[in-house]
Amino acid sequence: MRPNIPPAQFVEWLRQLPLEERIKGNDIESARAKESYDNFVDLFGKGMCSLCGKSLKTFSLKTPCLHWFLRPKGLKKKMMAALFKEFSYFRISSYVRWVASIEGYAKNINDIKDEHEGDNVIDFTARYKHLTWSFYCSKSDFQGHPTTSAGKNPHYHMQIQLGGESFIRYSEFHVEFHSSDLYDMELFNNYPDIVKHTYGYGEGMNIFFEDDKIVEKVALDSVPTENVDEATFNIQSILIAEDGKTISGEKVHEAIVEAKSTGKTVASVLREKITDANITTIVSPGPGVPQAMQRTKTKR
Ligand SMILES: [Zn+2]
Repeated sequence: MRPNIPPAQFVEWLRQLPLEERIKGNDIESARAKESYDNFVDLFGKGMCSLCGKSLKTFSLKTPCLHWFLRPKGLKKKMMAALFKEFSYFRISSYVRWVASIEGYAKNINDIKDEHEGDNVIDFTARYKHLTWSFYCSKSDFQGHPTTSAGKNPHYHMQIQLGGESFIRYSEFHVEFHSSDLYDMELFNNYPDIVKHTYGYGEGMNIFFEDDKIVEKVALDSVPTENVDEATFNIQSILIAEDGKTISGEKVHEAIVEAKSTGKTVASVLREKITDANITTIVSPGPGVPQAMQRTKTKR
Protein backbone atom coordinates (compact mmCIF):
# COMPACT_ATOMS: atom_id res chain seq x y z
CA MET A 1 0.00 0.00 0.00
CA ARG A 2 1.17 3.51 -0.75
CA PRO A 3 0.81 6.33 1.75
CA ASN A 4 -2.27 8.40 1.22
CA ILE A 5 -0.28 11.55 0.47
CA PRO A 6 1.50 12.72 -2.71
CA PRO A 7 5.10 11.49 -3.19
CA ALA A 8 6.56 14.95 -2.52
CA GLN A 9 4.80 15.13 0.82
CA PHE A 10 5.84 11.59 1.68
CA VAL A 11 9.47 12.53 0.99
CA GLU A 12 9.10 15.58 3.22
CA TRP A 13 7.85 13.31 5.99
CA LEU A 14 10.76 10.90 5.41
CA ARG A 15 13.27 13.72 5.57
CA GLN A 16 12.16 14.89 8.98
CA LEU A 17 12.48 11.38 10.45
CA PRO A 18 15.56 10.95 12.63
CA LEU A 19 18.25 8.90 10.87
CA GLU A 20 17.97 6.00 13.33
CA GLU A 21 14.24 5.77 12.61
CA ARG A 22 14.97 5.50 8.90
CA ILE A 23 17.63 2.85 9.47
CA LYS A 24 15.24 0.93 11.68
CA GLY A 25 12.58 1.09 8.98
CA ASN A 26 15.07 -0.21 6.40
CA ASP A 27 16.11 -3.07 8.67
CA ILE A 28 12.51 -4.14 9.21
CA GLU A 29 11.96 -3.98 5.46
CA SER A 30 15.10 -6.07 4.73
CA ALA A 31 14.16 -8.70 7.30
CA ARG A 32 10.70 -8.96 5.79
CA ALA A 33 12.14 -9.28 2.27
CA LYS A 34 14.55 -12.00 3.39
CA GLU A 35 11.80 -13.99 5.06
CA SER A 36 9.60 -13.74 2.03
CA TYR A 37 12.44 -14.63 -0.37
CA ASP A 38 13.51 -17.66 1.69
CA ASN A 39 9.93 -18.86 1.80
CA PHE A 40 9.62 -18.34 -1.96
CA VAL A 41 12.79 -20.35 -2.70
CA ASP A 42 11.82 -23.11 -0.28
CA LEU A 43 8.35 -23.60 -1.75
CA PHE A 44 9.56 -23.15 -5.34
CA GLY A 45 11.91 -26.08 -4.76
CA LYS A 46 8.88 -28.14 -3.80
CA GLY A 47 7.00 -27.05 -6.91
CA MET A 48 4.69 -24.79 -4.92
CA CYS A 49 3.85 -21.10 -5.22
CA SER A 50 4.52 -19.01 -2.11
CA LEU A 51 1.87 -16.49 -3.13
CA CYS A 52 -1.20 -18.61 -3.81
CA GLY A 53 -0.07 -21.79 -2.06
CA LYS A 54 -0.93 -23.91 -5.10
CA SER A 55 1.19 -26.04 -7.42
CA LEU A 56 3.33 -24.09 -9.90
CA LYS A 57 2.07 -26.40 -12.62
CA THR A 58 -1.58 -25.43 -12.34
CA PHE A 59 -3.55 -22.20 -12.60
CA SER A 60 -7.05 -20.98 -11.96
CA LEU A 61 -8.55 -18.27 -14.15
CA LYS A 62 -10.46 -16.94 -11.14
CA THR A 63 -7.32 -16.11 -9.20
CA PRO A 64 -4.53 -14.73 -11.38
CA CYS A 65 -1.16 -15.33 -9.75
CA LEU A 66 2.38 -14.32 -10.55
CA HIS A 67 3.38 -17.95 -11.00
CA TRP A 68 1.57 -17.73 -14.33
CA PHE A 69 4.83 -16.26 -15.55
CA LEU A 70 6.17 -19.82 -15.44
CA ARG A 71 3.56 -20.51 -18.06
CA PRO A 72 1.75 -23.51 -16.57
CA LYS A 73 0.42 -25.91 -19.17
CA GLY A 74 -2.70 -24.66 -20.89
CA LEU A 75 -2.16 -21.00 -20.10
CA LYS A 76 -2.94 -18.94 -23.19
CA LYS A 77 -1.51 -15.64 -24.21
CA LYS A 78 -4.78 -13.74 -23.96
CA MET A 79 -5.24 -14.90 -20.34
CA MET A 80 -2.20 -12.84 -19.38
CA ALA A 81 -4.24 -9.63 -19.60
CA ALA A 82 -5.94 -10.50 -16.30
CA LEU A 83 -2.53 -10.85 -14.71
CA PHE A 84 -1.37 -7.45 -15.89
CA LYS A 85 -4.50 -5.90 -14.37
CA GLU A 86 -4.00 -7.67 -11.06
CA PHE A 87 -0.29 -7.06 -10.50
CA SER A 88 1.79 -3.93 -10.70
CA TYR A 89 4.97 -3.68 -12.76
CA PHE A 90 7.13 -3.78 -9.66
CA ARG A 91 5.49 -6.94 -8.35
CA ILE A 92 5.75 -8.61 -11.74
CA SER A 93 9.36 -7.63 -12.33
CA SER A 94 10.37 -8.60 -8.79
CA TYR A 95 8.76 -11.99 -9.28
CA VAL A 96 10.55 -12.86 -12.53
CA ARG A 97 13.80 -11.56 -11.04
CA TRP A 98 13.37 -13.81 -8.02
CA VAL A 99 12.70 -16.81 -10.22
CA ALA A 100 15.75 -15.97 -12.35
CA SER A 101 17.88 -15.69 -9.19
CA ILE A 102 17.20 -19.26 -8.13
CA GLU A 103 20.08 -20.59 -10.21
CA GLY A 104 22.52 -17.97 -8.93
CA TYR A 105 22.64 -14.35 -7.84
CA ALA A 106 22.33 -11.80 -10.67
CA LYS A 107 23.80 -13.92 -13.48
CA ASN A 108 20.50 -14.71 -15.18
CA ILE A 109 19.37 -11.10 -15.25
CA ASN A 110 20.78 -8.81 -17.90
CA ASP A 111 20.06 -5.22 -16.95
CA ILE A 112 23.52 -4.00 -17.89
CA LYS A 113 23.23 -0.39 -19.01
CA ASP A 114 25.99 -0.70 -21.64
CA GLU A 115 24.19 -3.57 -23.35
CA HIS A 116 20.93 -1.68 -23.70
CA GLU A 117 20.90 1.18 -26.12
CA GLY A 118 19.27 4.49 -25.53
CA ASP A 119 17.78 6.00 -22.47
CA ASN A 120 14.91 3.69 -21.72
CA VAL A 121 12.98 3.80 -18.50
CA ILE A 122 12.98 0.00 -18.30
CA ASP A 123 15.06 -2.46 -20.30
CA PHE A 124 16.08 -5.85 -19.01
CA THR A 125 15.93 -9.58 -19.68
CA ALA A 126 15.69 -12.34 -17.09
CA ARG A 127 15.97 -16.06 -17.69
CA TYR A 128 15.08 -19.24 -15.87
CA LYS A 129 15.67 -22.55 -17.64
CA HIS A 130 13.66 -22.41 -20.91
CA LEU A 131 11.83 -19.19 -19.95
CA THR A 132 13.06 -15.75 -20.97
CA TRP A 133 11.23 -12.61 -19.91
CA SER A 134 12.09 -9.19 -21.26
CA PHE A 135 10.69 -5.84 -20.19
CA TYR A 136 10.88 -2.61 -22.08
CA CYS A 137 9.63 0.93 -21.60
CA SER A 138 10.89 3.84 -23.65
CA LYS A 139 10.48 7.46 -22.64
CA SER A 140 7.53 7.77 -25.01
CA ASP A 141 5.87 4.60 -23.66
CA PHE A 142 6.20 6.12 -20.22
CA GLN A 143 4.55 9.33 -21.35
CA GLY A 144 1.89 7.45 -23.27
CA HIS A 145 1.16 7.81 -26.98
CA PRO A 146 -1.54 10.51 -27.10
CA THR A 147 -2.90 9.60 -30.52
CA THR A 148 -3.42 5.87 -30.02
CA SER A 149 -6.10 4.19 -27.95
CA ALA A 150 -4.09 1.17 -26.76
CA GLY A 151 -1.08 2.99 -25.41
CA LYS A 152 -2.26 6.41 -24.38
CA ASN A 153 -1.55 5.86 -20.68
CA PRO A 154 1.94 5.22 -19.28
CA HIS A 155 2.76 1.62 -20.14
CA TYR A 156 5.49 -0.91 -20.75
CA HIS A 157 6.02 -3.83 -23.08
CA MET A 158 6.93 -7.40 -22.39
CA GLN A 159 8.32 -10.28 -24.36
CA ILE A 160 8.20 -13.88 -23.21
CA GLN A 161 10.04 -16.67 -24.96
CA LEU A 162 9.78 -20.37 -24.25
CA GLY A 163 12.90 -22.18 -25.37
CA GLY A 164 13.56 -19.45 -27.92
CA GLU A 165 10.00 -19.60 -29.30
CA SER A 166 7.89 -16.50 -28.88
CA PHE A 167 4.97 -16.72 -26.42
CA ILE A 168 4.36 -12.98 -26.17
CA ARG A 169 5.90 -10.37 -28.44
CA TYR A 170 6.78 -6.87 -27.29
CA SER A 171 4.18 -5.29 -29.52
CA GLU A 172 1.29 -7.48 -28.36
CA PHE A 173 0.49 -5.79 -25.07
CA HIS A 174 0.59 -2.23 -23.85
CA VAL A 175 0.76 -3.09 -20.18
CA GLU A 176 -0.38 -0.13 -18.14
CA PHE A 177 1.54 0.85 -15.06
CA HIS A 178 -0.48 0.73 -11.88
CA SER A 179 -0.87 3.87 -9.80
CA SER A 180 1.46 2.33 -7.20
CA ASP A 181 4.13 1.95 -9.93
CA LEU A 182 3.84 5.59 -10.90
CA TYR A 183 3.98 6.61 -7.26
CA ASP A 184 7.12 4.56 -6.68
CA MET A 185 8.77 5.72 -9.90
CA GLU A 186 8.23 9.32 -8.95
CA LEU A 187 9.96 8.60 -5.64
CA PHE A 188 12.89 6.70 -7.19
CA ASN A 189 13.40 9.12 -10.04
CA ASN A 190 12.88 12.42 -8.30
CA TYR A 191 14.25 11.72 -4.85
CA PRO A 192 17.11 9.24 -5.36
CA ASP A 193 19.01 10.78 -2.44
CA ILE A 194 16.44 9.49 0.00
CA VAL A 195 14.47 6.73 -1.75
CA LYS A 196 16.76 4.25 -3.44
CA HIS A 197 15.29 1.43 -5.44
CA THR A 198 16.95 -1.97 -5.27
CA TYR A 199 15.75 -5.43 -6.22
CA GLY A 200 17.35 -7.11 -3.22
CA TYR A 201 17.62 -10.80 -4.03
CA GLY A 202 16.53 -10.12 -7.60
CA GLU A 203 19.38 -7.79 -8.45
CA GLY A 204 20.80 -8.08 -11.99
CA MET A 205 24.27 -8.00 -13.55
CA ASN A 206 24.36 -4.23 -13.73
CA ILE A 207 25.12 -4.17 -10.02
CA PHE A 208 28.61 -5.51 -10.81
CA PHE A 209 29.34 -2.83 -13.38
CA GLU A 210 28.04 0.24 -11.58
CA ASP A 211 31.08 0.62 -9.41
CA ASP A 212 34.78 0.26 -10.30
CA LYS A 213 35.52 -1.23 -6.89
CA ILE A 214 33.06 -4.05 -7.50
CA VAL A 215 34.51 -4.68 -10.98
CA GLU A 216 37.95 -4.94 -9.39
CA LYS A 217 36.64 -7.41 -6.82
CA VAL A 218 35.11 -9.52 -9.58
CA ALA A 219 38.43 -9.63 -11.45
CA LEU A 220 40.39 -10.71 -8.40
CA ASP A 221 37.98 -12.86 -6.39
CA SER A 222 35.90 -14.72 -8.97
CA VAL A 223 36.13 -18.48 -9.08
CA PRO A 224 36.99 -19.71 -12.59
CA THR A 225 34.67 -22.24 -14.19
CA GLU A 226 35.55 -25.16 -16.42
CA ASN A 227 32.28 -24.68 -18.23
CA VAL A 228 32.96 -21.56 -20.27
CA ASP A 229 29.45 -21.45 -21.78
CA GLU A 230 27.97 -20.84 -18.34
CA ALA A 231 30.51 -18.26 -17.22
CA THR A 232 29.05 -15.15 -15.62
CA PHE A 233 32.06 -12.99 -16.45
CA ASN A 234 34.69 -12.78 -19.07
CA ILE A 235 37.93 -11.62 -17.49
CA GLN A 236 40.82 -10.60 -19.71
CA SER A 237 44.16 -9.22 -18.71
CA ILE A 238 46.39 -7.07 -20.83
CA LEU A 239 50.04 -6.82 -19.84
CA ILE A 240 52.18 -3.96 -20.98
CA ALA A 241 55.87 -4.02 -20.13
CA GLU A 242 57.38 -1.04 -18.39
CA ASP A 243 59.76 1.07 -20.50
CA GLY A 244 62.93 -0.78 -21.39
CA LYS A 245 61.74 -4.04 -19.83
CA THR A 246 60.24 -7.24 -21.17
CA ILE A 247 57.60 -9.55 -19.75
CA SER A 248 58.71 -13.05 -18.95
CA GLY A 249 56.62 -15.53 -20.91
CA GLU A 250 57.57 -18.14 -18.38
CA LYS A 251 56.11 -16.10 -15.53
CA VAL A 252 52.89 -15.65 -17.44
CA HIS A 253 52.72 -19.38 -18.04
CA GLU A 254 53.39 -20.05 -14.34
CA ALA A 255 50.61 -17.67 -13.40
CA ILE A 256 48.16 -19.47 -15.67
CA VAL A 257 49.12 -22.87 -14.24
CA GLU A 258 48.91 -21.59 -10.68
CA ALA A 259 45.53 -19.99 -11.30
CA LYS A 260 44.23 -23.31 -12.59
CA SER A 261 45.51 -25.33 -9.67
CA THR A 262 44.44 -22.89 -6.96
CA GLY A 263 41.06 -21.92 -8.39
CA LYS A 264 41.96 -18.24 -8.60
CA THR A 265 41.52 -15.96 -11.57
CA VAL A 266 44.49 -15.54 -13.87
CA ALA A 267 44.11 -11.79 -13.36
CA SER A 268 44.69 -12.08 -9.62
CA VAL A 269 47.71 -14.41 -9.90
CA LEU A 270 49.26 -12.21 -12.61
CA ARG A 271 49.11 -9.27 -10.26
CA GLU A 272 50.84 -11.22 -7.52
CA LYS A 273 53.57 -12.62 -9.77
CA ILE A 274 54.31 -9.86 -12.23
CA THR A 275 54.99 -6.63 -10.44
CA ASP A 276 57.07 -4.86 -13.08
CA ALA A 277 54.41 -4.52 -15.80
CA ASN A 278 51.20 -2.56 -16.19
CA ILE A 279 48.27 -4.93 -15.97
CA THR A 280 44.87 -3.87 -17.20
CA THR A 281 41.99 -6.18 -16.49
CA ILE A 282 38.80 -6.05 -18.51
CA VAL A 283 35.67 -7.54 -17.01
CA SER A 284 32.70 -8.10 -19.29
CA PRO A 285 29.54 -10.21 -19.04
CA GLY A 286 30.23 -13.84 -19.90
CA PRO A 287 28.36 -16.20 -22.21
CA GLY A 288 26.25 -17.45 -19.26
CA VAL A 289 24.46 -14.10 -19.01
CA PRO A 290 21.30 -13.88 -21.12
CA GLN A 291 21.52 -11.73 -24.23
CA ALA A 292 19.85 -8.37 -24.10
CA MET A 293 16.53 -8.59 -25.97
CA GLN A 294 15.95 -5.12 -27.23
CA ARG A 295 13.07 -4.06 -29.36
CA THR A 296 15.59 -2.61 -31.74
CA LYS A 297 18.14 -5.37 -32.29
CA THR A 298 21.73 -4.87 -31.28
CA LYS A 299 24.56 -7.30 -30.82
CA ARG A 300 26.90 -7.74 -27.89
ZN1 LIG B 1 0.68 -18.75 -7.39
